[in-house]
Amino acid sequence: MTTRDATSSEGKTSKPKIGFIGLGNMGAPMAENLLKAGYTLKVYDLSAEATQRLQQAGASVASSPEDAASNAQVVISMLPAGRHVHAVFLGDSGSNGLLSTLPKGTLVIDSSTIAAADARKVADEATKLGIDFLDAPVSGGTGGAIAGTLTFIVGGQPEAFAKAKPILDVMGKNIFHAGDHGAGQVAKICNNMMLGILMAGTAEAINLGVKNGLDAKVLSDIMLQGSGRNWALEVYNPYPQVMENVPSSNSYKGGFMANLMQKDLNLAMETAKDTGAKTPMGAKATELYDAHVVEHGEKDFSSIMALHDSSVL
Ligand code: NAD
Repeated sequence: MTTRDATSSEGKTSKPKIGFIGLGNMGAPMAENLLKAGYTLKVYDLSAEATQRLQQAGASVASSPEDAASNAQVVISMLPAGRHVHAVFLGDSGSNGLLSTLPKGTLVIDSSTIAAADARKVADEATKLGIDFLDAPVSGGTGGAIAGTLTFIVGGQPEAFAKAKPILDVMGKNIFHAGDHGAGQVAKICNNMMLGILMAGTAEAINLGVKNGLDAKVLSDIMLQGSGRNWALEVYNPYPQVMENVPSSNSYKGGFMANLMQKDLNLAMETAKDTGAKTPMGAKATELYDAHVVEHGEKDFSSIMALHDSSVL
């Protein structure tokens, strides 16, 4: 018996039907959690392998984004980048995408990490058509997607946020309404720019100590009790074997790929340029990650340690 069979029909009828587009590392487990909670899903991905996994979990498979959204009250997307989101919702020509086929009142939740300007463009078009659009990027990585403990950072109208909240609660633990359209994307890249800066800075400080004869664990313990204390030192030390169960102690496997950190830093730089905000520290972190991903993009982002000490890899 599947989990959906176990859900009472009463519970099922009160839940909106969902079209889910983009079933990669993040989208697949998010969609699976919705199925487990009794939602009815029609899913679409360019990859047949990705849709098969969801079919086995109880979803029906669509032949196009439009097919996934047919009869759905809610559409969720989890796509790689802004160009994919535009292609799906606005169409390659900018006018014949999924939005033009959706009935008024449909709720669209895009959880991809994209530029705020790109999210606002889709939101503007959706608003013209009477469709509720939310940008709802996440943090928490694949572990959070599997466990249903993601943090959602949402931009859009309060009424749309209220409609989306019960659905986001299934996939996440912390759900924030950051403000109007685009605000979710802005808040997410502010956080990730800070994370890139602090990880690069922590790696640099540990390396300085190690190169001057200190033990990385002793130095980390000292900084943890000092004013240099930060999230990396607390739970994600970038130096191998200082901490158990973190990517640095497992050859930098798993975790949050350096490629994704580089993507987010570049989105932050794009957003800063659009608005004239000065981000010299962010620019330096972007430069470091741009160089690092040339060889180590698939490794966890804490592998930025290797810029100082290649023997850690
Ligand atoms: P992924 O590359 O694993 O998955 C993306 C999926 O989208 C793929 O299955 C691909 O086939 C599909 N796709 C691409 N174009 C499509 C289209 N036109 N129609 C239908 N499907 C299409 O990416 P991911 O790791 O799942 O990340 C998704 C988003 O979440 C990205 O924006 C990423 O930055 C963000 N994110 C990822 C993580 C992470 O740890 N992986 C963490 C936070 C946020």
